[in-house]
Amino acid sequence: MPKKTQEPKCNADDPMETLLPLNTKSAASFFQLVFEASPNPYLVLLPDTPKFTIVAVNNSYLAATNTQRADLLGQSLFEVFPDNPKDASATGVSDLHISLERVIQDHVQDVMGVQKYDIPVPGANQFEVKYWSPVNSPVFDQKGELAYIIHRAEDITEFILLRERTSQENNARIEKTLAHAEQMEAEVLKSSRELKEANRQIKAAKEESERREQELAQLNERLQELDRLKTSFFSNISHEFRTPLTLMLGPVEDMLDDPQITPKNREQLEIAYRNTLRLLKLVNNLLDFARIEAGRAQAHYQPTDLRTITQELVSMFSSATRKAGLKLTIDCPPLPEPVYVDHDMWEKIVLNLVSNAFKHTFEGEIAVRLCWKRDHIELTVRDTGIGISKEQLPHLFERFYRVPNAPSRSYEGSGIGLALVNELVKLHGGKIEIHSTLEQGTIFTVSIPAGSAHLPESQVAGHAKPTLPTQDTLSMVDEALYWLPQDTKRTSRNRDENVRWYKPNGQPVQVLLADDNADMRNYVCRLLEPYCDIETASNGEEALNAAIQKPPDLILSDIMMPILDGLGLLRTLRNHESLKTIPIILLSARAGEEARIEGLQAGADDYLVKPFNARELLARVKANLNLELHRARQEAEASKQESEERYKSLFNQAAAGIAQTDLAGKFLLVNQRFCEMVGRSQDELLGIRMQDITHAEDLKENVPAFEQTVMNGISFAIEKRYMRPDGTHIWVRNHVSLVREKEDGIPQAVLAISQDITDRKEAEMALEATQARLRACIHSLLNRLRSSLAWARVTNASSEVVVIS
Ligand code: ADP
Repeated sequence: MPKKTQEPKCNADDPMETLLPLNTKSAASFFQLVFEASPNPYLVLLPDTPKFTIVAVNNSYLAATNTQRADLLGQSLFEVFPDNPKDASATGVSDLHISLERVIQDHVQDVMGVQKYDIPVPGANQFEVKYWSPVNSPVFDQKGELAYIIHRAEDITEFILLRERTSQENNARIEKTLAHAEQMEAEVLKSSRELKEANRQIKAAKEESERREQELAQLNERLQELDRLKTSFFSNISHEFRTPLTLMLGPVEDMLDDPQITPKNREQLEIAYRNTLRLLKLVNNLLDFARIEAGRAQAHYQPTDLRTITQELVSMFSSATRKAGLKLTIDCPPLPEPVYVDHDMWEKIVLNLVSNAFKHTFEGEIAVRLCWKRDHIELTVRDTGIGISKEQLPHLFERFYRVPNAPSRSYEGSGIGLALVNELVKLHGGKIEIHSTLEQGTIFTVSIPAGSAHLPESQVAGHAKPTLPTQDTLSMVDEALYWLPQDTKRTSRNRDENVRWYKPNGQPVQVLLADDNADMRNYVCRLLEPYCDIETASNGEEALNAAIQKPPDLILSDIMMPILDGLGLLRTLRNHESLKTIPIILLSARAGEEARIEGLQAGADDYLVKPFNARELLARVKANLNLELHRARQEAEASKQESEERYKSLFNQAAAGIAQTDLAGKFLLVNQRFCEMVGRSQDELLGIRMQDITHAEDLKENVPAFEQTVMNGISFAIEKRYMRPDGTHIWVRNHVSLVREKEDGIPQAVLAISQDITDRKEAEMALEATQARLRACIHSLLNRLRSSLAWARVTNASSEVVVIS
């Protein structure tokens, strides 16, 4: 604590005396009082450089420097206030010195900058950190000479420290902010990098998608190109096919017209004719399609009595519908005016729709209606057939589209019919619609505008005579007839007993053939008829029913068939208890190893790819029939083996000993029990003869009896002893008989069934011994009695004689 400086005394009773300097002395004391009480810290120095003697100091200065007036007055300033020796950088003394010198020199006030000027702590060898704001002012005497220097030093330590602290805090805050900023900067950097990466990825994705788009566009172009190529290919190839097919038809037609032709040849030629027509129809359809697509279809629209030609076309199906048990209704009221159509095209429209209805309708009716509707004509073909599901409807008019697994009279088809009809209707400026409900039926509605205003003038022709049905029409109707089931039972007409196949029981081999194509059925039947009886079915279900009624020896089945296909038939048969072993050969138009493997995996015995030739078919059928016989043999063999196993186990587990010997007595077969009885293993016995282990005493009876059996087949029974290796024996009762190859056949072996009778034999022998002992005893008793009687007779002749005999 700084010592309290002595307060200068003043007269409190007379303030005026205190305040006003009445004379010099009192004035001096007044000014001293004021000087010492001044709140600013003052030090008065003599300008006696370099000493700078302290001549006055006020209270405020003393308090600020923690000093006593007595310690300062008369002292050199720098001695009292030296530099802090522990602060090497201290410049307080020199700075103050320079300032004071400046005052002396310049006679002007010198304001110093903030000084760090530590002051000694009284009584301790250390300094207190202090900051000052000093001002040195000259004080002149009356002559204008420099008399004193007033050194005012404001203690601003608090302020400086506060500023330092604040600046430190600020620094810390700034550092923290900077760190935060750095972190933010890093984050911003990271985000920007991420953004950059994302941008890069977006760019790459965009480029990729552009590339894909380009590829797609190229692919699309390529597809269109391929489509064009395909169309042109169809067009060219169809042309190429048409010529040879037409050339084939001519000679076949000529031959068919020949009345000399044999029925067999006629049948074969008809098949060739029908199938050539079918192929021609397909080729024509493809060609039509290709022409339409290429915009080259030339329709000739003629004013037509549409009612008449439609009636005629539809009625061509009446025979087929009648045979199929379907009702065919044709409702065509007279039309008010002729309708502009291309005849051939209209024919194709009507026939395709009616033939489709016939193909997919198994019962009920097909109704065709043609009516006038103010500005257009409407043709509806309605059937009560299988119907088409909603999902399939949008695809029906696509080229080559077929509803998968749809039941139909024939699997045959190419999926081109409806697509062609659609195009033909469009060529007439009309439209086609379809309404269908699964399992209820389908309605196709074709609308064609009336008049000719909508048609290209150049293609509209004048009235034409009604044309005759085209070849395509005839073949379509013909085809429909062929979808109907034919006479299913075929027995061989050209039977040659030498080549026929028979089963081991003498019955002819029965083959069941399932194929929806009538010509294929005929072809296969013709090939197989000489060899076996053959029954046919036009789908899998019919074949299954036929097989259940009369199981065949082999089934030949097409894979693609309506209602139940070949694979379905195969599965059903393989799960059927009594039909599962029937060999099945699948026939398919699908070539390739995969299809073959699929068929075989499904459990087929063999697989034949259409077209196959006669020799191939016969070889496969025969091989599979042999397989069947082989299988029967295998089964018999297996059951024989099974029964042998059964006997073997019975033989081994029998309670009696069983031994079989050859005709000389050598053991061939012995069972477990026999081995136990004679105390020898099977191996030991199989090398020796029955005589070798029979007791010598028993051989006398045993050997002749054995020989009798071998020679005459007479069975015998004997009680005898078998000798064991340990010297003991076993008593057995043997039933011995002869084994022949067959009944009355050559003797093969001798069989002995042995029963252990040792216990009985020993009991018998024990009884015999007892009886013998008893007899001996009685005998000796009788002897003794006789001799006693003889003695009695001699000694007592008069007594009664008792005779014991
Ligand atoms: P294809 O008869 O040669 O298969 P289409 O183009 O004539 O070809 O017919 C396409 C498909 O439409 C057929 O496979 C059949 O499944 C279905 N379809 C056509 N008409 C009918 C119909 N009346 N009832 C049921 N399904 C039909």
